[in-house]
Amino acid sequence: MLHIPQHLHRHLQSTVADFRTNNLFPNLMNHLNQVIIPLDDKMDRLIWMHTDSGDLTLKDAYLHFAPIGPNISWAQSIWNVAIPPSKSFMVWRLFHNRLPTDENLASRGFQLPSVCSICNKSSESSLHLFLQCSFTTVLWNWHSSIKGHVTVAAAVIYIFNAIWSCRNLLRFEDIIPNLNSTISMISANNK
Ligand SMILES: [Zn+2]
Repeated sequence: MLHIPQHLHRHLQSTVADFRTNNLFPNLMNHLNQVIIPLDDKMDRLIWMHTDSGDLTLKDAYLHFAPIGPNISWAQSIWNVAIPPSKSFMVWRLFHNRLPTDENLASRGFQLPSVCSICNKSSESSLHLFLQCSFTTVLWNWHSSIKGHVTVAAAVIYIFNAIWSCRNLLRFEDIIPNLNSTISMISANNK
C-alpha cells in the first residue's frame, strides 16, 4: 500500500472522512457531490466522450485526426478530386465495415482463427489493425508530427490505405513491411 512498510500499517488509523472533515481537502466534497452513481449494475468501461454512444468508431477517429470543419461531412472529404477514387473507396469500405478483416468475416459466419498479420499479438479487428497495432501507432505518431505540412485529410486516407496494403502483403505474400519506406510512400502520394 503506497510503499508504506508493513509494520507501520497499524498506525494508519485515519479515514477519508477525517481528512474531509478536517478540511484538508476543501474541494473534495464538491467533487464527490458531482459523482453520479449509476443505478444500473454495469461494468466499468472506457467511453469516447465525443459520441452519443460512447463507442469509438473508425469514422470518429478519422474526424479526430482530420478535422475538416463543422459543415463538411466525412463522405465529402473522402470523395475528393485530389484523392484517387481507389484510395477513397478503400476508406469508404473501412467505414462501412466492408473490408474483409478477420473480425468482419467472423461476423458473417466464417469460422477462422484470427491473428493480426502485422504484430501477431492480437486478433484482427478494424480497430486493432487501423488504430491500435504497434505498426499503425508509429504511422499515426508520424502523422501527428507532420501535421500542418501536408493536406491532412488526404494523408489520413493514404495512411489507411498503406496499413491495408501492408497487411495484405504480409498475409498473402509474406512480405514484411518496412516502416520507413511506408512513410516515404505516404509522403510521396500526398505531395
Ligand atoms: Zn497488430
